[in-house]
Parts: sequence; structure tokens; C-alpha cells
Amino acid sequence: MKRSKYLLPTQKNDPAGIEIASHRLMLKAGMIRQLASGIYDMLPIGLKSLRKVENIIREEMNKAGALEVSLPYVQPAELWQETGRWEGNGKELLRFQDRHQRDFCLGPTHEEVITELVRGTVRSYKELPITLYQIQLKFRDEIRPRFGLMRGREFIMKDAYSFSATEESCNDCYQAMKLAYQNIFSRCGLQFQSVEADSGNIGGSASEEFMVLAATGEDAVVTNESGDYAANIEKAQSEEFIAQLPKEKYTSLAKVHTPGAKTIEDVSRQLAIDSKETVKTLIYKADEDFVVVVVPGDRQVNELVLPKVFQAQKVRPATEQEVKKLTDVPFGSLGVIDIDKQVKGISQIVFDTLVHPGRYYCMGANEKDYHWVGAKAGTDFIMQNQAHLHLVAEGDKHVGSNESLTLVRGIEVGHIFKLGTKYSQDMKAMFLDEQGKQQPFIMGCYGIGVGRTLAAAIEQGHDEHGIVLPPQLAPFEVAVVPVKYKDPAQKKVADDLYESLQAQGFDVILDDRDVGMGMKCKDADLIGVAATLIVGPKSIEEGVIEAKLRWQTDKQKVTPNDVSNWLRNGFEQYHAEPSSA
Ligand code: ATP
Ligand code: MG
Repeated sequence: MKRSKYLLPTQKNDPAGIEIASHRLMLKAGMIRQLASGIYDMLPIGLKSLRKVENIIREEMNKAGALEVSLPYVQPAELWQETGRWEGNGKELLRFQDRHQRDFCLGPTHEEVITELVRGTVRSYKELPITLYQIQLKFRDEIRPRFGLMRGREFIMKDAYSFSATEESCNDCYQAMKLAYQNIFSRCGLQFQSVEADSGNIGGSASEEFMVLAATGEDAVVTNESGDYAANIEKAQSEEFIAQLPKEKYTSLAKVHTPGAKTIEDVSRQLAIDSKETVKTLIYKADEDFVVVVVPGDRQVNELVLPKVFQAQKVRPATEQEVKKLTDVPFGSLGVIDIDKQVKGISQIVFDTLVHPGRYYCMGANEKDYHWVGAKAGTDFIMQNQAHLHLVAEGDKHVGSNESLTLVRGIEVGHIFKLGTKYSQDMKAMFLDEQGKQQPFIMGCYGIGVGRTLAAAIEQGHDEHGIVLPPQLAPFEVAVVPVKYKDPAQKKVADDLYESLQAQGFDVILDDRDVGMGMKCKDADLIGVAATLIVGPKSIEEGVIEAKLRWQTDKQKVTPNDVSNWLRNGFEQYHAEPSSA
């Protein structure tokens, strides 16, 4: 490819108002261009790198025995009504009508469509297991699209679905996908970790996310010291041992005056106690019911576990208005002692496992400006139901190993999930088993965000000059940069090099523009070309080419004959140590 004929609108200055490096660099390098919020054009080099990610994914999926299909982006409402997700999904599902007033949506995922396909084409256990995949557009009307391709509204996903006759076979499919994912992310040169994830309330039995470790990641990953435990924060479990808790200041029940104290911090300060000695009493709406959740004052509620705990479809904090309808107690003064007398219509109360029976706590007294101190858990308030409701915090102990837990940030690039029979049952997707009986397919689903993976690779690989992608993802492997292309001797060497490297299968760009060297090298560095080969008068005299790998600072002199070997060796080194992370 010749640079002068190429659409590569690199920018000199940083685009304004961009929060993270990968987004800034993808715009600056002319990889992507925003058309609308969360909707992007892929420009030639952006698409090239994206295709490289896709090809790695495709190769590994095929190697794992998955079959590629292509399913429609526009999906009829009837399918989504069969699984209850037409009504169940919120505004992320973009719905619209055709000219006949029939309802459709843009596919945010393809469980319904693929289940419909398999129910119509697979009859017998003899045809199972089968794993189908596609690399295709998705649309999710995300509430906060941001960070460029990282969280778009329209984005490319690789989604795969497995259909099995037995649990064991489903496990095998899941393991095969897990291995494929490990190969994919390793081949993309990423530093990643697979973590246990919550399978939500679909009833699936296992779920893991693949996280690229990066400080700007939106997810929190919890690990232990020996590194054999890693979980998404919403799935992570921790213990807090009584021995580690501060000695309580108040050990008999008393009502104290706490003027103006509305928050845990206010109360802790006024009473000079640790926030661990307090409990928060929170009201949630679980489907149509109001429920109460009690957690230590220094803890946040893991809202993702609440649907399971309360056996509800949807659980959210009650609004201030809703609480006002239930009780006269001011919002910040709720306490669990006598709550059933003070708040009408509470159907359940669940205490966090960190509220220890026998310990003494401070809590709202259901009265403005008053708190209870010295309230003994299990005596002054009964704890019938307890569950792990808190989000794990740095320094908590890992259940089992007793090692301290650490929190790091991650970008979720992939997700694998055992679905069980949720979709096949809802959609009556059946096969005939060995006994000739109808059985629902046992399913798994497996997603990778393709654009997000590329963005994550840039998030891990960049420096002050621009993008540093591993060679296998770089938009070009080699830039041939003549100092002066108009000079016939330089043109000859540059053209020969360009042609011979291309003939040997390298992905090469020749910078044939009549501009300064500085600009040409800067551009190559900005877009993350893996190696730059400079052809100038001096090097012609000496019969060598000045060569530089993107992730190294030193230039080396290489003879034209040695260039391809030098490139191959250099690219292999990158696999060994991704120094740009
Ligand atoms: P998130 O929690 O980040 O919204 P998710 O749990 O909704 O992700 P899945 O439904 O599991 O994601 O989708 C599979 C993969 O698709 C994710 O692991 C991620 O890599 C990618 N993905 C999901 N949403 C987006 C998005 N808005 N933009 C880009 N990629 C996305
Ligand atoms: Mg999402």
C-alpha cells in the first residue's frame, strides 16, 4: 500500500475531551471516526486491525470445531416474546416497526435467533453437540456509551452458542471455548485473566469473564496473594473475621442524640466510633414488594446478588418518594430495630454475613436525630435471614485460603456462560434423545467484543508517541520510509524493499509522500506500525537499511538481504515479552 493513495487522516493534536488513551489514539491515528454517540466509522487502518483480531478469533473458533454462520441484525419481536425478553429488556433493546406496523428490534445478542435456527434444523441427539458462531454487528442502546469502541452502541461481537444433549457434553463445549479464548487473547498479545463471574438469575451454572488488566478498566477484579483465585467483584466472596474488627465502644442498648447526623460518616464522627460498628438499613423494591437489606456501615451492597436472594426478576433501591409513602421516618434515620412497626408493608429482611451475631452495632432509631448504640445482633434485633450481600473490599480475606484480597481494574473482553435449558425450554427447542424422548437442548453462550479487544490492546500498548500494538494486530507490520522518495536511488531501494517484503507476505506501507522525515516517522509511530525501515543517502552508501521496532528505542543497521529474517525475529520477540504493557 502506498501512503499517498491511502486514507489515513492522522491528527497532530489530541482530540479534546477524551478520557482514555485508546480512544484518544484511535481517533488521532485515523482508525475510527464518531458518527453519532456510540456509533463509529471504521477507517481503513482501524478496519485492518479489527480484521486481524477477527481472523485470530475465526481461526481459533474453527480449530475448536465451531461452525461459522451469519444471523440477521434485525430480529422480529415474536422471538423475543417467546423468552419474555421483549418486555423484560429495558431501553437497551432498540425496538422499531416496519411499514406493516410489525415490531422488530436490532439484535443486542442472538440467543433467540440461534435457538430458533437450531430448533428448526437439528432433530436428534446424533447431531449433537454443535457449536455455531458469528462475527457480527450488535446494537445496544447503552445508557452511557463512552471510551470509543470500548463501550459503543453499535459494535462487533463474536458470539458463539453450543447445543448439547447432556450436561457432560455441555461442559466439554464450554471447556473447548475456554481454551479457544485463552489462545485468542494470548495471540492478541494481551495480559489477561479469566475470572469467575456471576451467572445472574438465568440459572446457568458457570460463567467466566476474560479481563484485560488495565487501570482504566470499568470492572473490578478480585485476586488473592497466590494468584489462584480471581473473580469479578460481583461474584467475589470474602470473610471478615471478628478478631480483625475494632473493639466496640458501646455494649449496651441506648438511644443517643445525634443532631443533624444523616450519613454513616456523620454518625461515626459524632459518636467517635468506627463505621464498621454501624449498620445501614436500606429499603429495596423487589418486583412488587418492598424488602430491607442490612449491611455494615462501611460496606456497599452488591446489587447483582439481590434478585437471587429475594427470588425476584428485578431489584432496585426504593426511591425517596416510595419510602415516604411507607413511613414517616426520615430517609437517613432508618434502623432495623422495630422496623416492621415503623415501616408498612416490608415483606422480607436480609442481613449481610458481616453483621455478626453477638456484636454490638449503632443504627438509626427510626426517629429524626436519634441513633441506637450498643444494639446486640441476634438479641436486640433478630437475624433470621443472612446472605453475602456486601461487595468485597481491598484487604478482605479470601474464604478458604485466608489470604488478603486485592482489587485490580479490568476490561471485560469476553464472557463464557453455561445457559442450561432456559432458552430451549422457553422456545420449545427440542431434540430426540436415545430413548426417542423429546428433550430441551442444553446450551452455552460465548461472547467476545471485537472492537473492545482491539481498544484494550491499545489501552495496554501505547507510549508518548502513539499506539504500540503487537505485530499481529498492528495496522501494518512494516513501514518503508525513504528520506526522499523523489531521489531515484532511494526510490529504487525503497520500491524493491516494498515489493520484496510484500511478496514474502509482510503487510507493508510505503511512505511515498513528499514530506519531511519527521512527519513520516511520527505517523508510523502514531498508528503503531510494528517496524520502520528507513532508506536514506547514507544507508545507500553503506548498503544497509536503518531499522527500528516500534517497541524499542534503538535503530539497527540491517542489509536488505537480512531484512525479512530480522523482521521475523523481532516480531517473535514481541510474543515473548510484551514490553509496552
Ligand atoms: P458490559 O458489562 O461491559 O456491559 P456485558 O456483560 O453486557 O458487558 P456480554 O453481554 O457478555 O457483555 O457481551 C459479550 C462481550 O461483548 C463482552 O464481554 C464485551 O467484550 C462485549 N461488549 C458488550 N457490550 C459492549 C459494548 N457496549 N461495546 C463494545 N463491546 C461490548
Ligand atoms: Mg452490558
